[in-house]
Amino acid sequence: MGTFHPNASDRLPPEVQTLVLLGPAEPGFWAHFTQSPEACDGQPNPMDRWSTRVIGKIAEQLGHDTQPLFPFGGKPFHPFYSWALRSGRAFAAPVHFLVHDTAGLHVSYRGALALTARLDIAPPNAASPCDGCAQKPCLTACPVQALGPINAGRPTGYNVDVCQTHLGTAEGQACMDGGCLARGACPVSQRYGRLAAQSSFHMRQFKK
Ligand code: SF4
Ligand code: SF4
Repeated sequence: MGTFHPNASDRLPPEVQTLVLLGPAEPGFWAHFTQSPEACDGQPNPMDRWSTRVIGKIAEQLGHDTQPLFPFGGKPFHPFYSWALRSGRAFAAPVHFLVHDTAGLHVSYRGALALTARLDIAPPNAASPCDGCAQKPCLTACPVQALGPINAGRPTGYNVDVCQTHLGTAEGQACMDGGCLARGACPVSQRYGRLAAQSSFHMRQFKK
């Protein structure tokens, strides 16, 4: 989902020369994940456990210098939001969430690989998809303005309580079944191919 060469501000050990961000490849991720042992064993946090196993195994195969890093698992949290921006493939959307050049507002990072090798990497995109998005449907799609009233072209801030309250109502079932309407309204999200079933899974995790 993105790669960059870290510097001193990226809160990584100095020997790390390349950081590779990993996330679902769509379409197809949900069909793959739901066949996994973690998705079928009925235990909590199946996707985090799947990510730990799969990304940990990739790191192991790459060699002992490669460290797997995860955006979950408690403090100290790694700065995945900042790392995503550093990759040049994700940007701060007007709704404050990250928007990725191919995953849109459906971007999620399941982990990262910290490499001591300095890989040759392609130059990142310079422009956010939001720059060419005239209608900006993400701004108006939330039915309860949980992203905050618009001020100077941007919502003023995500109100988690308003969002969670709405999700517990009959009217909130559309978000529960198909995912956040604001995230789904983004044309880049729609091209990514994430299934509604996966978005619903994330909504249930979030509502817990
Ligand atoms: S809907 Fe448009 S403005 Fe909003 S995140 Fe997507 S590309 Fe950016
Ligand atoms: S999940 Fe639904 S209520 Fe919450 S921010 Fe998204 S659109 Fe709004």
